[in-house]
Amino acid sequence: MKGIEELAIFGGPPLFSEPLHVGRPNLPPRDGLLERIGAVIDRRWLTNDGPCVRELEARLRDFLGVRHCVAMCNGTVALEIAIRAAGLHGEVIVPSLTFIATAHALQWQQITPVFCDIDPRTHNLDVAQVEALITPRTTGIIGVHLWGRPCDVEGLERIARRRELTVLYDAAHAFGCSHRGRMIGGFGDGEVLSFHATKVFTTLEGGALVTNDDALAGRARLMRNFGFEGYDAVGYIGTNGKMNEVSAAVGLASLECFDAFVAANRRNYERYRQGLAGVPGITVLRYDDAERCNYQYVVTEVEERLTGIGRDRLVDILWAENVMARRYFYPGCHAMEPYRSYFPHARLLLPETERLAARLMTLPTGTAVDEATVDRVCELIRLVVTNSAVLEHTLGRPRLLA
Ligand SMILES: *Cc1c(COP(=O)(O)O)cnc(C)c1O
Repeated sequence: MKGIEELAIFGGPPLFSEPLHVGRPNLPPRDGLLERIGAVIDRRWLTNDGPCVRELEARLRDFLGVRHCVAMCNGTVALEIAIRAAGLHGEVIVPSLTFIATAHALQWQQITPVFCDIDPRTHNLDVAQVEALITPRTTGIIGVHLWGRPCDVEGLERIARRRELTVLYDAAHAFGCSHRGRMIGGFGDGEVLSFHATKVFTTLEGGALVTNDDALAGRARLMRNFGFEGYDAVGYIGTNGKMNEVSAAVGLASLECFDAFVAANRRNYERYRQGLAGVPGITVLRYDDAERCNYQYVVTEVEERLTGIGRDRLVDILWAENVMARRYFYPGCHAMEPYRSYFPHARLLLPETERLAARLMTLPTGTAVDEATVDRVCELIRLVVTNSAVLEHTLGRPRLLA
């Protein structure tokens, strides 16, 4: 390991010659993958409810223990369709500490996302705050199982039943995770998955609505295909949300390797926990070992009072070394346009979101990262924190990240 005077931020060569990204894709072995894609091409059935999509839907229903899986072209369109098929309108309560698509999927169809604060222990919706935000215009709640850790589904469903609200979950992070022994996917009125390239299980682009509600699944299935009910008959306003066959083929091949992907993530996660243990001010987010978990996110909280160096400066230093750590989900949806202008006072209601958004840092993992790499990243972080006083003195005021 280098000394601090050799850090790339002072002009030295970066610790890693190639950038180390958060969310490098997990892919199955090339041969099996190409064979499946070749079969799609030979069949000349490229999309529109083809055999790979049907098989993937069946596999996912089995894996998640749900009655319906409607595969779609991506998670955002799956969210938009789920919201529309569930009949949401007016206001819907959502967390702000999430990927922007959770809010956009509502605003895209003129539904107001009402940003709710989170419980700092779980990083998920604070149920008491949800209740306080319900108005006569509220029609639903969208919980996000952030980092794959389940929302307080019992608490949310209790409120929803009492106040006659629909509950959907953005389960984009939570594929392969469980809550009290039940797979995420079967909670609320419906759950939405993302199979984007950065997610633990990818179909390149892709997503799905999973639900036990027959009527909701039926409407979503029609809306996914322009609302077509037959060759020349349309029943709804619909869109094009279909998953293509190549994506589904990638999904089928990836499912066979899913346990191996999770094992690599878990190995890296444990390694980060060991490697960062005892580094003052850096805590690695915990997962419940009694549950199934995909370990896709190595999330740290950086407490400047103890590290002596701010989260943003630490990220700057790591980027210079080609460790592309991310500030998920800074600054929170409420602090980005257009929501910042729509709700200029939202931040006053979101103190925990603001506090966490300023401290979170996500580190690279996945099958593209090995244990030796994790060890070097941990040593680098330890070096920076151990020498924070000298670094802060030498570097002066932090420069802002682009
Ligand atoms: C990735 C993600 C989405 C969007 O999914 P896409 O498949 O990229 O459209 C939505 N919500 C969350 C929380 C995500 O992480």
